[in-house]
Amino acid sequence: MSLDEILIHLGEERDQYFQAVSPPVMQSSNFVFPDLTAFRAAFSDELTHHVYTRGNNPTVAILRKKLAALEGTEDCLVFSSGAGAVAAAVIGNVQAGDHIVCQQAPYSWTNHLLRKLLPRFKVDHSFVDGTDINNIQAAIRPNTRVLYLESPNTLTFECQDLEACAALAKKHGLVSIIDNSYASPIFQNPASFGIDIVVHSGTKYINGHSDVVVGVLCAGKAMVKKLFESELMTLGGILGPHDAALVIRGLRTLPLRVQRSDASAQYLIKKLDAHPKVAKIWYPFHPEFPQLALAKKQMRGCGGLFSVQFKTDSEEKMERFVHRIERFLMAVSWGGHESLMLPTIGFYQIPGKAAPEIPWQFCRFYIGLEDPEWLWEDLARAMEAL
Ligand SMILES: *Cc1c(COP(=O)(O)O)cnc(C)c1O
Repeated sequence: MSLDEILIHLGEERDQYFQAVSPPVMQSSNFVFPDLTAFRAAFSDELTHHVYTRGNNPTVAILRKKLAALEGTEDCLVFSSGAGAVAAAVIGNVQAGDHIVCQQAPYSWTNHLLRKLLPRFKVDHSFVDGTDINNIQAAIRPNTRVLYLESPNTLTFECQDLEACAALAKKHGLVSIIDNSYASPIFQNPASFGIDIVVHSGTKYINGHSDVVVGVLCAGKAMVKKLFESELMTLGGILGPHDAALVIRGLRTLPLRVQRSDASAQYLIKKLDAHPKVAKIWYPFHPEFPQLALAKKQMRGCGGLFSVQFKTDSEEKMERFVHRIERFLMAVSWGGHESLMLPTIGFYQIPGKAAPEIPWQFCRFYIGLEDPEWLWEDLARAMEAL
């Protein structure tokens, strides 16, 4: 099925709702049954029948179908946040006494899940430099159950070899999980390399309009059924139908938005590369990125997120530079319509908020949908302060 067909038509059974072009927001918590036969059938499989919106909801089901097709998996669950999807994927596959191997620099709240929450339930972890498969192999213990990847991560964009990781996980009977938020389903499909569970912060590219917090979990039928019955229904971190309708709308333009951000980021990176105040650029397709060949092997593009280390001799100048920037909003998150900057000088001294190897001259940029030349004018003007 083509990408356009998935985004514009898949799952939209218009004859069930008055031939409406846009699907209705089925804003109902509950569903009724005409007779006991229907009642029993629904109770035998809440994943596919409409019983109660904490399990299944028609609007949410349309979104799930589209996302599963985008990642090339059999099924999908959606959650009230990306963190919720990550937690469900991990918690659903471990029990007390188990061990998790994780690449060394995951998203901050994934880090929190492994370091702070899971140890309370006697689940242990090892963080490893995942740029070398041998480190991952060496960290696997007899009680290891999960291999957790984030490739690329969203600050320095380190990658893991997905094909090699999937093979290693299979050999040792581990469930492989990847956070695929950076690349989006448009530029990378980890299930095609054999990864078991693909999670996303749908808050980023998938919704793309900075107005919904949403999590996505794509996997095979059996895994989705298992996680539906335990982590989704029990912990209850579901996406409501109204938010689901907003995400369906956001998805219509996913390829257009991601390709635009990608092209604009490349335009700006070329300009920055030639600028004397730029020391280094982090971007998986940058010619000096240490894992360029691997990135090109498993990704079709990178999108709009990259980091820059500027050349400057004082924190004061760095602060002046940041304050001179007018067209990038200073904020966390990314993947929406608006361009953003995340200067590490804002948090590098706060304990636990930044990796020690990230210097204060470092700034992450997200390129949204604005004219890249208009953004460049702003950056070039601000760099005079450095
Ligand atoms: C934002 C983000 C998350 C968390 O997603 P929320 O939707 O904010 O809960 C997880 N992983 C990555 C890589 C992210 O950027």
